[in-house]
Amino acid sequence: MGNGIDADVLVIGAGPAGASTAILLKLAGWRVILVEKNCYPRQKVCGECLSAAALALLDQLGVATAVRDRAGPELTQVGWMSGAATLIAHLPPCTGGPYRYGQALGRDQLDAILVNRAIELGVILIQPGRVRSVRGELGNFECDIQLSAQDYAQPGRLHESVIRRVPIIVDAHGSWETGPQACTRPTSRKPRRGSDLFGFKASFVNATIPQGLLPVLSFRGGYGGLVMAEDRRLTLAGCIRRDTLAGWRGHLPGTSAGAAFELYLRASCRGVREILAGARRSEPWLSIGPLRPQIRLRKSDRLFSVGNAAGETHPLIGEGITMALQSAFLLAGYLIKQPARAIDATRALEIHRAYRSAWRSVFALRLRLAAIFAHIAMRPVLSLPVTRLLGDCPQVLTAAAHLAGKASKPVAQSLLFEGIL
Ligand SMILES: Cc1cc2nc3c(=O)[nH]c(=O)nc-3n(C[C@H](O)[C@H](O)[C@H](O)COP(=O)(O)OP(=O)(O)OC[C@H]3O[C@@H](n4cnc5c(N)ncnc54)[C@H](O)[C@@H]3O)c2cc1C
Repeated sequence: MGNGIDADVLVIGAGPAGASTAILLKLAGWRVILVEKNCYPRQKVCGECLSAAALALLDQLGVATAVRDRAGPELTQVGWMSGAATLIAHLPPCTGGPYRYGQALGRDQLDAILVNRAIELGVILIQPGRVRSVRGELGNFECDIQLSAQDYAQPGRLHESVIRRVPIIVDAHGSWETGPQACTRPTSRKPRRGSDLFGFKASFVNATIPQGLLPVLSFRGGYGGLVMAEDRRLTLAGCIRRDTLAGWRGHLPGTSAGAAFELYLRASCRGVREILAGARRSEPWLSIGPLRPQIRLRKSDRLFSVGNAAGETHPLIGEGITMALQSAFLLAGYLIKQPARAIDATRALEIHRAYRSAWRSVFALRLRLAAIFAHIAMRPVLSLPVTRLLGDCPQVLTAAAHLAGKASKPVAQSLLFEGIL
């Protein structure tokens, strides 16, 4: 492959945001390069819940059947597990799209399905390939791509690399990893704080959970969720504060962070103990962090960004994948209104402005609500009265799931993509 400009766009990262952006732009006739640093299939810290809106968007990408055939049962009920309490209510059905309820599927499978679809359509995939740096301006970006997955483990080693020149770049590198150098904006290095949140995930077999139940876990210093995914595999994912985990590990010398997180959940929530009684963990614990839920889109951005690179919500509401897909639809909807070569600096500014504003109108409220729900779930002084309220009025849980977006129709699709695909 030559190093001249032979593509219209390069997408950094093949998570749900990057892979779906690549698919949409390719469907619109653009020449697309997609770069992913990890080999697939790979596991990821994620609760793995797909909302009904996400399934509708996956339909448009041509993969919903593959996803639904493999995914776990439809999620029809929401639970609140806090201390000894387990409260259950109906999940509100989505009435504005083809699917009423969400399902769960492992990220090893979902991300691979999306990438395979991109390849099938003719997207050029560079994997493993890590975008190390981005130089240049719109119309003539230069991407330095390292063609190895093991570069972090062996810093001294020489690695083959290629330079690709492309007119447009979409940044979909996620959020918990350092992005490509000089890619968008300097990564803010915040000092370590006790309140830093770390994410954990593991899978279990032989767990017993009522069919279709999606429990939210509330405990001092963190929150989490449980869900039955494909092949009766239970995913347990959650977040915990640095100081809470450190204090707990002080009582458990020699215990890994993941194992300590599991013991803490079992000790904190009777519901977790009951569901995991007799279950066996089938994979090692994965962890990431610290998480920084926030809006990342800035006026000064040189690259277009989607998914967590554009903005991230507290994972309590399990809407990150939906947001990743929706932001891809939003951005692609603006980009493909003209041929790639017609996007000059002035047009790019207009697209940035319109996309930022649409992004905020679709997601900003969801981010704020997720932050409020997360703070309630983590603080006993707030979660105790909420648990009492939910005991008297379980419909409040249904209403909260509604507010969190669980019944929302796929907004970005209906806003911009109808009729285009
Ligand atoms: C504990 C927890 C539970 C969650 N539960 C849920 C849930 O149940 N449902 C839900 O919808 N969301 C959930 N989320 C959120 C969800 O995982 C994210 O919102 C989603 O993964 C974001 O997708 P993305 O494509 O933006 O980024 P990612 O999925 O992070 O993908 C980014 C990709 O870019 C690649 N990359 C990074 N840097 C480079 C580089 N320099 N060059 C090349 N490639 C690069 C990475 O390897 C990665 O594959 C959860 C998150 C956490 C932490």
